[in-house]
Amino acid sequence: LLLSRLLDLLYPPRCLVCGLATPAGGTCPACTLELPWNTHSCRRCALPLLADGNCITCEYAPPPWELALVPFRYALPVSHIIQAFKFQRRMDRGAWLGARLQEAAENLPGEALPQALVAVPLHPSRQRQRGFNQAATLASALARSLRIEDASSHLERRRRTRPQSALSAEHRRSNVDGAFAVHTPRRRSRAPTWPPRTLQHVAVVDDVVTTGATAAAVARLLHRHGIERVDLWCCARALAVPPLTQTDNRAPGQ
Ligand SMILES: [Zn+2]
Ligand SMILES: [Zn+2]
Repeated sequence: LLLSRLLDLLYPPRCLVCGLATPAGGTCPACTLELPWNTHSCRRCALPLLADGNCITCEYAPPPWELALVPFRYALPVSHIIQAFKFQRRMDRGAWLGARLQEAAENLPGEALPQALVAVPLHPSRQRQRGFNQAATLASALARSLRIEDASSHLERRRRTRPQSALSAEHRRSNVDGAFAVHTPRRRSRAPTWPPRTLQHVAVVDDVVTTGATAAAVARLLHRHGIERVDLWCCARALAVPPLTQTDNRAPGQ
């Protein structure tokens, strides 16, 4: 502790954005104000809006999750912070992003926290390539600080999918449909089946949401396994190009 204080004196934490010495760490007050906060957005899909409420797409074809908690729009400098975390394993960036999600979760007026978090799983080969799953790192830190369960290990990605960013909105859904599964314990294992009946409210955690096709595939899977309410927790909302289409957002059973 003494050593870390001494180090702070010698090398004070610097703002993640402008590099100015920032005793509290994270971003300096000026940069914090300038961040692309997703202040007014659709409650269902987090699309930026001029006022709170639901966007037109969600009015007609709501996504298979109930609420999207997404503190930022995917724009500079947040996009750089996410990329440094994801591709250069800058864990300080990941911790900062997780703390912003935690604040957003704690400031949700009149909304219950989920009982458990599940990260969008990576395919094992992709995870080996990248060295870690950024969504799982976020989910485990959030679960710890909010004192809820991290159920990420119960989900798996069975099929290796093409990167969603390379596909049109239409192809994104078919790319991820059926890619995820609830992990089945080995035969003769005594592990109880998941989810237990008492688990009714889960949030899916990912770094960026674009068309929402990946999150929707995970949400539909959780619904099929009897989870009543699924929310979506993401660091940033990117604008889908082309814009969200109805086929990307059909509720289960439609
Ligand atoms: Zn700054
Ligand atoms: Zn919406």
